[in-house]
Amino acid sequence: MAKQRKTAINPRRDEDYSSWYQEVVKAADMAESSDVRGCMVIKPWGYAIWENIQKNLDAMFKETGHVNAYFPLFIPKSFFEKEAEHVEGFAKECAVVTHTRLEDDGNGGLKPAGKLTEELIVRPTSETIIGASFSKWVNSYRDLPLLINQWANVVRWEMRTRLFLRTTEFLWQEGHTAHETKKDALEETFKMLNVYAEFAEKYLAMPVIMGEKTESERFPGALSTFSIEAMMQDKKALQSGTSHFLGLNFAKASNIKFQNKDGKEEYAWTTSWGVSTRLIGALIMAHSDDDGLVLPPKIAPSHVAIVPIYRTDEERVKVMGFIDNLISKLKRLRYHEEKIRYQIDDRDMRGGEKLWDWIKKGVPVRLEIGPRDIENNSIFMGRRDKDAKDKSGLKVDDFVNNLTNILDEIQQNIFDKALNFRSENSIDIDDKDEFYKFFTPKNKNNPEIHGGFAMSHWCGNPECEEKIKDDLKVTIRCIPIDEKEDTGKCISCGKESKKRVVFAKAY
Ligand SMILES: [Zn+2]
Repeated sequence: MAKQRKTAINPRRDEDYSSWYQEVVKAADMAESSDVRGCMVIKPWGYAIWENIQKNLDAMFKETGHVNAYFPLFIPKSFFEKEAEHVEGFAKECAVVTHTRLEDDGNGGLKPAGKLTEELIVRPTSETIIGASFSKWVNSYRDLPLLINQWANVVRWEMRTRLFLRTTEFLWQEGHTAHETKKDALEETFKMLNVYAEFAEKYLAMPVIMGEKTESERFPGALSTFSIEAMMQDKKALQSGTSHFLGLNFAKASNIKFQNKDGKEEYAWTTSWGVSTRLIGALIMAHSDDDGLVLPPKIAPSHVAIVPIYRTDEERVKVMGFIDNLISKLKRLRYHEEKIRYQIDDRDMRGGEKLWDWIKKGVPVRLEIGPRDIENNSIFMGRRDKDAKDKSGLKVDDFVNNLTNILDEIQQNIFDKALNFRSENSIDIDDKDEFYKFFTPKNKNNPEIHGGFAMSHWCGNPECEEKIKDDLKVTIRCIPIDEKEDTGKCISCGKESKKRVVFAKAY
């Protein structure tokens, strides 16, 4: 066996995937656990990624006619109780505010006082509080469609947390819309699912499968839930965005009524859809390698990290002057209508150490510039989609003229790699034994990376779904939208089925 080269992240993915994930987050300085259990501190590098996600998604929402608004963090308990399934789905993870102030407890400490007559729920999602506003805003068919988005934080109490993937408080956006007809609301549900898929593929370089959730995985209170599902490098699925068709359930609960064109009163059809900081977890697990984070250029906080190399003050002056000149050229460039984002690393550290920092942070392009390069009017370039040692010398003008192409190429390479990985690890399985084997690790005590996406038949019976979940911890990720009819036998019970669904282990 070939000797493993030393990697910047330890353990490697194949040794211990979940520790590898934590180490990548740490090495890239993206986030850390806070003193508040289950809550994370998002550090500048992680937050800059979120800002790029926000900025681009927000533009896509606006292009599709949505506007932003903001609603209260607190939801009166009575609002929450209005939709029965919704309550049941979220009750177990609600943070509840019961008091309004603190007072001296007589022992040098404080105790809560001013008990509220009605408790407030810290929003886990905002259907009910936004519904209350919609019921006031919607009166006539002329008020529809109502297309609102909110960027906010939400709280869902979690016992077992992981940075970005599952935290008690997280950041997200939630779209909430109301429509005249069922057809319009369904169209909206699919439109936003498509926006998410396009964003995931074009910006995050993450191929996704669009599909419908089964009843057991549906959003509490929705008539149907659709999702985009991506494959992580441990071959598990990660639900990366959801779009819900809520029917009339929430309109009835919140009394969202309008007068139709015939002057009759009707309930509005509503939808909701969201993505969260979980996308950053997906981004990390889909692309990063044993040297750390790998970022698609369109989302990277910096496109280029420039590391000056010098020994003496005189060299420093020369090198920095050369870099200033390069920067003035970079400033004139546009990469997909945006400025080139760059970073000059002038820290008092060894050059090699600095370069490794940028590798671990996933910056797409690294430049080393020293006195000898200047003499040749050239630079030394490394790319995050290639091996760390694979570097090339380039004339400055060639670099500047090609940079946007190089970034596009990196973006594409990252996507292709993820797509190949998913293809290699997705198979049609029709045999039950083979299915069980596919999802069973060889080493039970310390499971190796195994499984993948099994495209298998399912009869539609929730009991078959439950059985597979109990036996293998495998769930139906979605019923793909573009899956063709294909008669076969349910992988669990053997009864007739008309469609294959995506089975996988999941986050
Ligand atoms: Zn079955």
